[in-house]
Amino acid sequence: MSPTGPVRLRVAPSPTGDPHVGTAYMALFNLAFVRQVGGQFVLRIEDTDRARYRDDSERQVYDMLTWLGLTWDEGPDRGGPYAPYRQSERLDHYRPYAERLLADGHAYLCWCTPERLAQMREAQQKAKQPTGYDRLCLGKTREQRAELPGFSDQAVVRMLIPDDAPLVFQDIIRGEVRAPRPDDQVILKADGFPTYHLAVVVDDHEMAITHVVRGEEWISSTPKHVLLHQWLGLPLPAYAHMPLLRNTDKSKISKRKNPAARLTWFREQGYLPEALRNFLALVGYSMPDGREVFSFAEMIESFDWHRVNTVGPVFDLDKLAWLNGHYVRALSVDDLAGRVTEHLVLSGVLPAEPTAAQRDLGRQATPLVQERMQLLSEAEGMLAFLFVADDDLQVADDAAASLREDAPAALDSSITALRGLDQWVAADIEAALRTALVEGLGLKPKVAFGPLRVGVTGRRISPPLFESMQILGRDSSLARLSALRHRLG
Ligand code: GLU
Repeated sequence: MSPTGPVRLRVAPSPTGDPHVGTAYMALFNLAFVRQVGGQFVLRIEDTDRARYRDDSERQVYDMLTWLGLTWDEGPDRGGPYAPYRQSERLDHYRPYAERLLADGHAYLCWCTPERLAQMREAQQKAKQPTGYDRLCLGKTREQRAELPGFSDQAVVRMLIPDDAPLVFQDIIRGEVRAPRPDDQVILKADGFPTYHLAVVVDDHEMAITHVVRGEEWISSTPKHVLLHQWLGLPLPAYAHMPLLRNTDKSKISKRKNPAARLTWFREQGYLPEALRNFLALVGYSMPDGREVFSFAEMIESFDWHRVNTVGPVFDLDKLAWLNGHYVRALSVDDLAGRVTEHLVLSGVLPAEPTAAQRDLGRQATPLVQERMQLLSEAEGMLAFLFVADDDLQVADDAAASLREDAPAALDSSITALRGLDQWVAADIEAALRTALVEGLGLKPKVAFGPLRVGVTGRRISPPLFESMQILGRDSSLARLSALRHRLG
């Protein structure tokens, strides 16, 4: 039996801290298909694992998916015809299904304590036997079981996996997939919460999900889900298991080991959402013409499950940086200036509500850095000097160390020359300084302007000096040069 009606897909993250980059990757592929065929996309929050629950993580999921432009049609925040979309608000939905399975003999109660289960597992491992529940409770009444050791008052519900359980299922991307034989999986916990396996089947059914597109780590769970559907007489959704995102050494990307597993990291580092989207698409997908730079709209148009790559996609951050640089250069100056300003707010260089003057400064400075950066965070280093008070400008150690003996003389001549300028524009600033330092003091242009750069920006590397001075303004530029001159004695 196959579901009929409109195509409905979902992404179902668990709010266990900073959202994982895999959530965005799954949302992207779900959406590519949904938007192509004109169905609905559901965001469901799977928060039944209370031990791992983190308070603000649900909001972060919304924030990050919205930032990436991966938006959903139904979800806890916006409601929909199948609300509620948060599993903790659906607890009364799951028990009746578990009871039906018990009544039909497809499930049984288990009273084993966690300690007994741990000992059992240890003994199985020692004896090199396959691990799995040994069915001590199967066929026993509560009273019969209570007489044996390792009895807990609170029962869980386990699936009774039959010997002939179907282990092969059809996957849209992979074709026929064979999964290992499952254990007698717990589906309802002692606290009355469902485990993932029961909740996912019940919710996918009740929310009329037609396609389950998720990570390949769930392949081994799929036979359990197929069985639950069969036992409950529910139509089976189509399955597609996406290849996992992996580090260059092929290990799984984990939030504990890799900062790039956290979605917020990408925003903090100054990646653009369109670049990250393109990158995530490229990790698991190839365009018919092999193009590497493409928009989400183009991906949607061309989308075809057969072009999802199942062998060893690699998460190569150098590639992402390259892509990001590409998108940075393609933006209009106004657009980029807005994003640079946002990034400067995020990193604390600018206040939460920048003034009009600060915004204007950011706008003027953006063309100076557009060609020089890949990530927005690089703008932070290059432009921070514009947004500090003259007295607060820090001179970096390497910049101070780069000053030579002739720096005081160069600064004195520069200050005099700049004071005489009628107009404070880059071309005039440059001409005056060349005359004073190269012709006047006989300095090589390469070294002549070093002290000025250090004085004005506090750094050895900065956006073009004369333009920077123009934007910073006459008073600040002169005040900073004088301050450095004083420091040098
Ligand atoms: N809550 C699961 C996860 O976080 C969802 C898996 C699924 O899509 O079935 O990965």
